[in-house]
Amino acid sequence: MKTEIIKCLQDNYSYLIIDSKKNACVVDPGEAEPVIKFVEKNNLKLKYILNTHHHFDHIGGNSEIKKKYGSKILGYKDDKDRILGIDILLNDNEIWKSDEFEAKIIHIPGHTSGHICFYFFNDQIAFTGDTLFSLGCGRIFEGTYRDMFNSLEKLKQLPGITRVYCGHEYTYNNSLFCLEYDRENLDLKNKIFKIKDNLQNNKPTIPTTIKDELACNIFLRAKTLEEFSKLRDLKDNF
Ligand code: ZN
Ligand code: FE
Repeated sequence: MKTEIIKCLQDNYSYLIIDSKKNACVVDPGEAEPVIKFVEKNNLKLKYILNTHHHFDHIGGNSEIKKKYGSKILGYKDDKDRILGIDILLNDNEIWKSDEFEAKIIHIPGHTSGHICFYFFNDQIAFTGDTLFSLGCGRIFEGTYRDMFNSLEKLKQLPGITRVYCGHEYTYNNSLFCLEYDRENLDLKNKIFKIKDNLQNNKPTIPTTIKDELACNIFLRAKTLEEFSKLRDLKDNF
């Protein structure tokens, strides 16, 4: 299984997961054009569109891609009325399987009520949308602080080796916030060094890993709901 990073819109990432027979899934196509370009160039069969949540910068390319390739759209069951053209409704903890793709669905509300993570456990990769970012977490739009805290707790349980692919390139700004409130963290300083190097070479800072995030992401390092909530408020005004 191969994962390709497709830049979309301003700072969104969409991803292609490709199996040995050139079947592909696209995760969160914010727009269709760059995805279609890659699919055509590489002769892929784009069978599935996986949506982590219903925000337009994650589903904006859905209908054009579906129209062109007949791809099936997957999303959380409760988002059936706000992900247009949805074909496959997913439940928390279900294993979705097709071709060589096999992913566990983890419901992680907070950013939106229907937010899910696609965890490809055989490949040890997780698509976390706008819930877990590299060195950050999503804004809480539809849930409570507790929802988001619990959702991050679920992601913290994934194996450390898991590669995390998130919805946006927010890493540098996130790193400044982490450093501001965690000045002595050497792992964080080392990670920032690598982040800067990637960005200077025009490369994504993605994927990160659960191990790195546990060591460096201040939102995952928060021990209590109170501590987490305070950090979330501070970040909203950072
Ligand atoms: Zn979002
Ligand atoms: Fe987003």
